[in-house]
Amino acid sequence: MGNPVKKIAILGSTGSIGQQTLDIIRTFPQRFEIIGLTAGQNTELLNKQIEEFKPKFYWHGGKDAKTDIAGSEKLSPEELAGHPTVDLVVIAASGKAGLAPTLAAVKAGKTVALANKESLVAAGEIITTEAKKHGVRILPIDSEHSAIWQCLRGENQPPARIILTASGGPFRHYSKTELEAVTPQQALKHPSWKMGRKVTIDSATLMNKGLEIIEARWLFDTPFDRIDVVVHPQSIIHSMVEFPDGSTKAQLSHPDMRLPIQYALSYPERWPNQNVTKMNWDKTKELTFEAPDMESFPCLKLAVEAGKRGGTYPAVLCAADETAVELFLSGQIKFTDIACLVEQLLFEHQSLFRPSLDEIAAADAWAREKTMELAAGAYRC
Ligand code: MG
Repeated sequence: MGNPVKKIAILGSTGSIGQQTLDIIRTFPQRFEIIGLTAGQNTELLNKQIEEFKPKFYWHGGKDAKTDIAGSEKLSPEELAGHPTVDLVVIAASGKAGLAPTLAAVKAGKTVALANKESLVAAGEIITTEAKKHGVRILPIDSEHSAIWQCLRGENQPPARIILTASGGPFRHYSKTELEAVTPQQALKHPSWKMGRKVTIDSATLMNKGLEIIEARWLFDTPFDRIDVVVHPQSIIHSMVEFPDGSTKAQLSHPDMRLPIQYALSYPERWPNQNVTKMNWDKTKELTFEAPDMESFPCLKLAVEAGKRGGTYPAVLCAADETAVELFLSGQIKFTDIACLVEQLLFEHQSLFRPSLDEIAAADAWAREKTMELAAGAYRC
């Protein structure tokens, strides 16, 4: 047959997206070769993955792990992302960890399959400028952006409007008072998607949708006033694009992250996968839509505001949110304090115009420290 084998590095292979990426690779073993895998703390799972996929390179941030895994060599995520033997880099690490390897991959001219939204949010201008310079394609793995990408294929005019769909999370229709009492356990139960902890909490606060608006702005070079959000609780329509003539295209499927992951890996082809549940239209009773509740879920508004202002505001948004989500998950703050802390940080921040990578890193560090400081003291929302 002679199908070319794609040589892949997965950064963040033990997380939710990383594991599901390996699931796709297991389904199509003849199409891929795993060159490298990296993980944060979960060295136990990483060791199992190394045994199964036998990558040349690995890396982990764990303390107690083995340092010599037979046949594999330890290599930093940035070096791995730019390694000459790699064709495609899957950035599956969540939060801040995604930025440096994404840039390294782009600068080395690698195709990037991007699941990490924080890197584009914090440094969208730098990453997209470098991607253009090096002729690199950034293929979105986020389901909404994969949907938009699929809708735009074959079109040669820019969209009149991008409509991101949001499930609304587990607390749709909750009042502000009800939201004050929600627990991490409740917030971690997403009604339609199986995802990692950080993105699941972000989905519950609607911060995730705010980050996705900024992500869409950079991925599709579309101004903020042409990106809308609609709540669609069934999570069947993954996003829509409206064209200048008023026609709208949408991409629909059963909510399963393996689909957008597989599309980024198989692009420009589409491969049949028996493991992915197909839509049963006889049993699909309704697709409903409603406006997002900006009052009870202020994170959406905060993200759009930070995105529009630009500079180092989006980096502060990401860092404050990541810190606040951790504090919520460890029981140190209330669910509603996440938005409160993020708002306070954006208010206090002095942004820089067209920041360098170092300035973005400094804003990030400031925001993390300041969030901890505010959370530990008496802050008022
Ligand atoms: Mg998404």
